[in-house]
Amino acid sequence: GDIVSLEGVSKTFSNGTVALKDLSLGIRAGEFLSLLGPSGCGKSTALRIISGLTGPTSGRLRWPQETASQPEHELSFVFQEPTLMPWATVFGNVWLPLRLKGISKSAARDTVMEALEMVGLASFAQSYPRELSGGMKMRVSIARALVTKPKVLLMDEPFAALDEITRFKLNNDLLALWQRFGWTVIFVTHSVFESVYLSNRIVVMAARPGRIVNDIAIDAPYPRT
Ligand code: ADP
Ligand code: ADP
Repeated sequence: GDIVSLEGVSKTFSNGTVALKDLSLGIRAGEFLSLLGPSGCGKSTALRIISGLTGPTSGRLRWPQETASQPEHELSFVFQEPTLMPWATVFGNVWLPLRLKGISKSAARDTVMEALEMVGLASFAQSYPRELSGGMKMRVSIARALVTKPKVLLMDEPFAALDEITRFKLNNDLLALWQRFGWTVIFVTHSVFESVYLSNRIVVMAARPGRIVNDIAIDAPYPRT
């Protein structure tokens, strides 16, 4: 079934811009879904509504599997900018989401190191963000998103600011992680390449107002588990 769905969602900003109009979309567990479309078609707005960062003007967001015993839909958001705290080490940055849940540094150590291991940066735990390249900073921000073991990973053009080669490497890393851990990923991009390469479902959006014009299932030519 759907892990999260948007039902007839519209979003009009206070300046009158209609960003989304009657958008319905169900995301299934384990899916790597790309939201693809030109700038301004409402991709980020849709993602922000899914995350709860902003609400719809009408329509609704549903987490159908949410239960009383598991009230929180566990999700993490990766933004285009890595937004690391410059005064904290790589370890400190990745620890942050656990720290906010009241988990001490020593209790968090193994989990943080495991997340850094996943993105290949365990040996940089004591480095500071300024010592890292752009690609490495983005990997730290992915580790920070993964450290809480979210069910759903929301990514808003995470690699857009990086050069093409770094971007390709990170695409491969992300794909390998997804194949290994099988989260649900919702990936916003305006890159046709990225959407075809990474996802098993592409939802194509058009602008003015933002709406879905195509919903494509992809049979990947390489093994997926
Ligand atoms: P995308 O992510 O596809 O580039 P966005 O969701 O960011 O598109 O934006 C969709 C539309 O809503 C655009 O026309 C954009 O200018 C407008 N928009 C986004 N955020 C705001 C805001 N806070 N206030 C007014 N208009 C906004
Ligand atoms: P960018 O992707 O921004 O070009 P890379 O991730 O390719 O950054 O790495 C840039 C530099 O940092 C490279 O010289 C690489 O050797 C070094 N580097 C990156 N990740 C690691 C790592 N896990 N261990 C050691 N060195 C690394």
